[in-house]
Amino acid sequence: MKQLLAQLDETPTDIELLTTLLDVRGADAEILRDAATECMHAHVGDNVYFRGLVEVTNRCHLNCYYCGIRRDRDIPRYTVQADDILAAARLCSRLGFGSLVLQSGEIRSDSYVNFICDIVARIKRETRTVQQPNGLGITLSLGVFSRTQYQRMFDAGAHRYLLRIETSDDSLFARLHPPAQSLAERFEALNTLREIGFQVGTGVMIGLPGQTTRMLAQDVFTFKRLDVDMIGMGPFLPSSDTPMGHAQILSSAQRLQLGLNMIAVTRLVCKDINIASTTALEGLHPHGRLLGLQYGANVAMPNLTPAENRVNYKLYDDKPTAQSVDGAVAAIESIGRRVAKNVFGDSKHFFNRCS
Ligand code: SAH
Repeated sequence: MKQLLAQLDETPTDIELLTTLLDVRGADAEILRDAATECMHAHVGDNVYFRGLVEVTNRCHLNCYYCGIRRDRDIPRYTVQADDILAAARLCSRLGFGSLVLQSGEIRSDSYVNFICDIVARIKRETRTVQQPNGLGITLSLGVFSRTQYQRMFDAGAHRYLLRIETSDDSLFARLHPPAQSLAERFEALNTLREIGFQVGTGVMIGLPGQTTRMLAQDVFTFKRLDVDMIGMGPFLPSSDTPMGHAQILSSAQRLQLGLNMIAVTRLVCKDINIASTTALEGLHPHGRLLGLQYGANVAMPNLTPAENRVNYKLYDDKPTAQSVDGAVAAIESIGRRVAKNVFGDSKHFFNRCS
């Protein structure tokens, strides 16, 4: 194992090597975890950055085969009122989380973009405090838009954007999405976001039906090639009443370990980026997100969506809905990490690549 890790330092994009590392289990996985932690300490420190997550709407024009809020799924639809989003942002600020993430289904209309830009500008204005004179940091995760639309979101005050590619494998992507959606479109959008000046994040799902470890190794290689600032990725969890709700997949334990190994290997390859420990990990293990932090992640996203809406943002069946913020902080401190308060918690990689 030691030798493989030394080799990774020499050739961080060797697909065979990445595949071997992603497949480790037991004592070897613990060595991988410890190496990722060491790498994290060396490049980004031991802080955990919080972003309050607001799931703005579960309305969506897309029909992804895996997703619980896909267009054709018969579920109650909601959009959180602007005032309620603002209330969540104020709570986020009071709790000392320096940043907010607005996530939603994909609605490419200009009226939705207007709604988002108005709310972003209001949040920036109305969350100014002594500790954060520029207001909360804002990350958007709303899907694919035109350059003009992205530019408007940036000008309104959002400065980070998360757009997952879901998989870097063209044929697997085609099996997950209707023909109108393409991986190329997502790559192009990521490029546009970067040109506009956003800190850019992407990610994939792990343990998808038909996905091999080699494809995941290609995903890590792709993160490196795209030179992204942030990663948010997690295990695939089936959502009933979707075309992939009953597909043949790896066991929960296997998907959990693969999800953790992806975090660790991504940390070792991409080094100074921010990596989120996502909710989907918690769907497979009661302390899934803490495990993610122990495998090299440094961002946590406590959910601040109003409770009555949150139950309807079910991307998958076993999505945890309740969580106590105090509990999350205490748990993070219990593993020897520090929660950074009242800061954006930007990606070090962004500043390193811009300098
Ligand atoms: N509309 C936005 C946000 C989509 S929801 C966009 O297109 O970027 C955020 C993420 O949830 C998706 O990118 C996907 O990776 C993840 N997701 C959706 N369904 C899932 C499932 N069944 N299991 C695990 N993750 C899922």
